[in-house]
Amino acid sequence: MDSFAYRDGELYCEELPVRRIAETVGTPTYVYSTETFRNHYKAITKSFAELNPTVCYSIKSCQNLHILRLLVGLGAGMDVVSGGELFRALKAGADPATISYAGVGKTDPEIRQALAAGIGLFNIESEAELANLIELARQTGRNTRAALRVNPDVDPKTHRHTATGKRESKFGVDLERARRVFEQYGRNSTVRLCGIHLHIGSPVNTVEPYVQAVTKAVQLIEDLRSARFEVDTLDLGGGFGANYTEGQSAELAHYAEKLVPLIRGRGLKTVIEPGRSISANAGILLVRTTFVKPGPDKQFVIVDGSMTELIRPALYDAFHFAWPVQPGAAFVPLVRQADLNLPGSVEVDIVGPVCESADFLAKGRYLPPINRGDLIAVFTAGAYGFVMASHYNSRPNAAEVLVDRDSFRTIRRRETYDDLIAAEQNA
Ligand SMILES: *Cc1c(COP(=O)(O)O)cnc(C)c1O
Repeated sequence: MDSFAYRDGELYCEELPVRRIAETVGTPTYVYSTETFRNHYKAITKSFAELNPTVCYSIKSCQNLHILRLLVGLGAGMDVVSGGELFRALKAGADPATISYAGVGKTDPEIRQALAAGIGLFNIESEAELANLIELARQTGRNTRAALRVNPDVDPKTHRHTATGKRESKFGVDLERARRVFEQYGRNSTVRLCGIHLHIGSPVNTVEPYVQAVTKAVQLIEDLRSARFEVDTLDLGGGFGANYTEGQSAELAHYAEKLVPLIRGRGLKTVIEPGRSISANAGILLVRTTFVKPGPDKQFVIVDGSMTELIRPALYDAFHFAWPVQPGAAFVPLVRQADLNLPGSVEVDIVGPVCESADFLAKGRYLPPINRGDLIAVFTAGAYGFVMASHYNSRPNAAEVLVDRDSFRTIRRRETYDDLIAAEQNA
């Protein structure tokens, strides 16, 4: 599933012992695998090959320019949700025609920026936004294409903060309103409303919510076509699951197997916007143990990484498998699972130094005995890791490195204290 594996009692990324990265670059550090990015991207294009989709990688899941360039090199388009992400996509050399732009609150400067770049698709979230896009496109004399984000009212069975396709969600418009939006704007030639966009949540670990959503979207498209609207694009969005624990999420091929038959033969250009399913298991967060402290019931393993590098446990109660980098042969974890408890393990909470009780990376885990100085890998940290990093407690952002076979390079240097104050002018 990815290129992080234990060999001779220690963790490797591809052909490189992970400890070597800590020796040179220090900790905390995000470590990414070129091979895993490549394999995951190819698995998606292969699974959905019959539809020949435009695969727009979701920049917000893992945004480093070097990684975007790697994916652009493989043929990826980009899914952006802000002017900053659009800037990154263009810097990475993405073909503007393969950029889709979603988001409920695109500002005028952002819309003008995207019109000037000539992006392929605006994903529209409200009537007000579409009216404004038409006006700005008219002013700037740039025609464009748009898809209407529809809220198919399905339950993606994910965390309440990451469900986006339910009726009460702030994203998109419901199916009834969608018809009215087409009646009002569907024949505009400045902004050609040519598609339906879905993005029901993230992560969605099962296929069924997509089947429900796509079935409704295809029905809507056929209805619109009967009313003589030219609808030629279906954007499925992203949200495909990743394995935070072994077998947690359906395989990509399985999503494709169920969805392709619903879409094929209808003359639809398909767009997919995967983020997490590509990036999550392509990265780990590498941290070092600062202290081990006995607690009343269990030990605290205090590490130099925190919620400022990986906020998902604090924000979503997310589970990330965490394990020592050099556990020795007796403690090699054969599967990443929540309740792994090898003989001789100790119950611990892995916590950071930040002044918040929510600052933890893992709670109630059975780990091999940990000592001060031990390296720990927090797995599946490639998605929504660095991108959600903060400077809280004036912590400089961690370094990012990209491994390729037996070598690695730093793709973002560790920030310095001067970086922390660089924008505080004349202080
Ligand atoms: C976040 C997002 C995605 C990617 O979601 P993943 O779970 O990372 O695959 C795709 N499309 C839109 C519109 C998004 O907001």
